[in-house]
Amino acid sequence: MSLVLPQRPEPDPQLRSTLVRALRDFLPPDAVLEAEEERRPYECDGLSAYRQLPMVVVLPRTVGEVRQVMRLCHSLGVPVVARGAGTGLSGGALPLADGVLLSLARFKSILDIDPVNRTARVQPGVRNLAISEAVAPHGLYYAPDPSSQIACTIGGNVAENSGGVHCLKYGLTVHNVLKIRLVTVEGEIIEVGADAPDAPGYDLLALLIGSEGMLGVVVEVTVRLLPLPERAQVVLAAFDDVEKAGTAVGEIIAAGIIPAGLEMMDGPAIQAAEDFVHAGYPTAARAILLCEVDGTNQEVSEHILQVRAVLERCGATEVRTAGDEAERLRFWQGRKSAFPAVGRISPDYYCMDGTIPRRHLPEVLRRTAELSAEYALPVANVFHAGDGNMHPLILFDANKPGELERAEALGGAILELCVEVGGTITGEHGVGIEKIGQMCVQFQPEELEQFRAVKRAFDPRELLNPGKGVPTPRRCSEYRALPDRHGHDHVHGHGEDPRP
Ligand SMILES: Cc1cc2nc3c(=O)[nH]c(=O)nc-3n(C[C@H](O)[C@H](O)[C@H](O)COP(=O)(O)OP(=O)(O)OC[C@H]3O[C@@H](n4cnc5c(N)ncnc54)[C@H](O)[C@@H]3O)c2cc1C
Repeated sequence: MSLVLPQRPEPDPQLRSTLVRALRDFLPPDAVLEAEEERRPYECDGLSAYRQLPMVVVLPRTVGEVRQVMRLCHSLGVPVVARGAGTGLSGGALPLADGVLLSLARFKSILDIDPVNRTARVQPGVRNLAISEAVAPHGLYYAPDPSSQIACTIGGNVAENSGGVHCLKYGLTVHNVLKIRLVTVEGEIIEVGADAPDAPGYDLLALLIGSEGMLGVVVEVTVRLLPLPERAQVVLAAFDDVEKAGTAVGEIIAAGIIPAGLEMMDGPAIQAAEDFVHAGYPTAARAILLCEVDGTNQEVSEHILQVRAVLERCGATEVRTAGDEAERLRFWQGRKSAFPAVGRISPDYYCMDGTIPRRHLPEVLRRTAELSAEYALPVANVFHAGDGNMHPLILFDANKPGELERAEALGGAILELCVEVGGTITGEHGVGIEKIGQMCVQFQPEELEQFRAVKRAFDPRELLNPGKGVPTPRRCSEYRALPDRHGHDHVHGHGEDPRP
């Protein structure tokens, strides 16, 4: 393992038994998991190379119980890691050996749907897709749609500021959540945001969305809903060159069209998805773009013609408009299944997540291929191209000595490349433990100190998900000194930091 995991003290057996006894005073027996085999399913999230058994797992059912758990842990000085569905890819929900793993899985209720105001009030353990399913009878849906939407929870989406195919046009989680209720580290309840726009005071909602469970525990979310479009249509374009596909992405947006989704897959990803779900993809292509437009019938018809023209001008070898709804869904099923599909062709894969300004797509794809050759590990690309949100999937075999470390080093080099061209080290998967080193490249020491000050304001004793998200100054010194670090310190891209 090459990531430096948070250094934690050994769990204190005395403290553990005091904690468990106190938890059992107010939680039912099935809400406190102590036995090793019961804790085992919680030992990792989607970044499964890193595992840690939590000291104890709690599964409360009510907000009152969450508050009591937080109060108790606060009084005993025990750290707490919140967990939704555990699909996170950056180790955000990785437990601590001396901490409580607080699962929100039992908070599964949709509390209220308001079709007139187009909002829904939901508990944090509600699955992302379940919101759209519940509001569909009202002609509404919840726009942010991570590919993991069948499993991931809205609480996890809020904590990670998750995105998805539709976020190019409709925004990320932060643009689609109006209000949250939060249990603080001391067990108090605060409500942040408002049902009406423009709440006064600091915009704490924006601060909390994407805070990775480090500032509080989300126990209720009010989401904004959108009317289902009259029509959605998708165009698939094949290219014989990845860079041409990258250029086409910028050209579509430059033509004044904001697609509802604009996704790209390269050769290895196309083949894997096709073998897995038989989406009808052209397997000889070096890259495909999926471009969806939505709106009124007339808008969609006009935009489809424009999109096709741009794609052809950019050198697409084939442009196919889905013939019917079944084909449209099949095209998307291939894209949405691409991660598990790639999982079938390689013993292990490591999914990176960085964002770049769109105009650098062709260059970054080319340089990613060069890095892939340099590190001798194949990379499959499948990503939210319209947002410039890259997801290089690095294929490796953890059973071969050194391959995991090489995959991580390649991942780090790709992220630093994103920073170099003016991008960021995460588009939607968060920092967690995974990218804590690259935070030292993305930000200046003074900026990181502001992050630490925010953390101290909410959680002075560092009990909420400690060791994640924001590196300590020492961690940054160690990261910069790593002998095998590929990149350089390109803070804010191209070394062009204009500040003194
Ligand atoms: C196959 C696959 C595809 C994916 N595709 C996408 C994608 O397209 N877009 C995208 O953005 N992400 C994607 N992800 C990543 C992941 O699904 C998202 O980050 C998701 O939001 C995590 O939700 P979760 O419920 O699983 O959270 P978890 O993994 O359980 O937790 C994630 C973080 O949120 C915190 N947390 C969870 N619940 C709460 C709460 N109630 N209060 C406070 N903190 C909390 C945890 O402490 C942790 O830091 C994908 C993952 C997989 C495995």
